[in-house]
Amino acid sequence: MEKLQNGYLFPEIGMRQLMHVEKYPGAKIISLGIGDTTEPIPNIIASAMSQYSHALSTREGYQGYGAEQGNQELRKAIAETMYRDMGINDTEVFISDGAQCDISRIQLLLGSNLTVAVQDPTFPAYVDSSIIIGQTGEYARNTGKYGGIEYMRCGPENSFFPDLSSVPRTDVIFFCSPNNPTGHAASREQLGELVATATRNGSVIVFDAAYSAYVSDGSPKSIYEIPGAKEVVAIEISSFSKLAGFTGIRLGWTVVPHELSYSNGFPVHKDFDRIICTCFNGASRIAQIGGLACLSQQGQKATQQVIGVYKENARTLARTFTSMGLEVYGGTNSPYVWVHFPGRRSWDVFSEILEKTHIITVPGCGFGPSGEGFIRVNGFNSKECIQEACHRLRNLLG
Ligand SMILES: *Cc1c(COP(=O)(O)O)cnc(C)c1O
Repeated sequence: MEKLQNGYLFPEIGMRQLMHVEKYPGAKIISLGIGDTTEPIPNIIASAMSQYSHALSTREGYQGYGAEQGNQELRKAIAETMYRDMGINDTEVFISDGAQCDISRIQLLLGSNLTVAVQDPTFPAYVDSSIIIGQTGEYARNTGKYGGIEYMRCGPENSFFPDLSSVPRTDVIFFCSPNNPTGHAASREQLGELVATATRNGSVIVFDAAYSAYVSDGSPKSIYEIPGAKEVVAIEISSFSKLAGFTGIRLGWTVVPHELSYSNGFPVHKDFDRIICTCFNGASRIAQIGGLACLSQQGQKATQQVIGVYKENARTLARTFTSMGLEVYGGTNSPYVWVHFPGRRSWDVFSEILEKTHIITVPGCGFGPSGEGFIRVNGFNSKECIQEACHRLRNLLG
């Protein structure tokens, strides 16, 4: 725990926001910062949870513990709607209280005696959980990197996909696509390269598909779209958080294929099942009923509508920064827009934008050393707030 350097990002942003409010009382702050959903949960989904909750107050409707691995019907629905034609069956889907929690359980499964690679920049939970479980060496302040972790640089110069031939072999590769914060969705060809490399090296890919529902350009939504991934190399984690505004309800899942085994032939699935039964005890029944409603035909339509709002917001933000003469990435397969300010420091850009527009962004350096010089903004907001934010940003240029 003492080695943890990251994790100061969002508390630091919160503190600066407080100081800003003190300096400018009454200023209307718009947050394009922390990636939390804002739009209400569609009624069809909330109603399903509400009805189920009420039934719990009756003798007939009451239920206690469920299966640790999750509601059978939900596991089946996820296998059928999210992994159609990919050969995933319900017994390979473990329902959880969220993808972030599953990242930690996977770390618990893997232990400390191994090496990991991460995209740079990416979601901080992979590195932080690696440090907590003890996989790393010391933090080097001059590079912003931990010893023992391979940082795979993903920037505009390599189309946000690492040069895998120059990355040393690791036991585990965390890979997020569409990536947070860059918004980049890896192409079929790129993921093919990733699977081939992992297969050759005997590495496991832990694929984070939390934003799969935002993909609209034909890029893969799951690692299992890539031939060979299921048979050899990949665990996939995903979530209802950004899919259906379940950030506060808490519901996600992990796919561990039966074929995935250690070098001695023992199935990983068996061990993950053991971890789930020991260290988790199943997701909330109420949340799982909500998950089922999300995957109904009407539920899918309703959640896609909400995602459409966030993506339209992201495009509006991207257009605004582009019109300011900046290089802008993401925003098409993702709620995130990744804006480049070459030669400047992320925190300086954050401060200037906050000072002049009362808008909260996220400094890119918080996602890894290669995020320096970038800021992340997101479309998780009402259309009106995004339009107001864009108006202020355009005035920034004068
Ligand atoms: C938001 C997010 C998650 C979701 O985590 P939950 O615990 O399911 O809310 C997972 N991965 C990434 C990259 C995210 O941005």
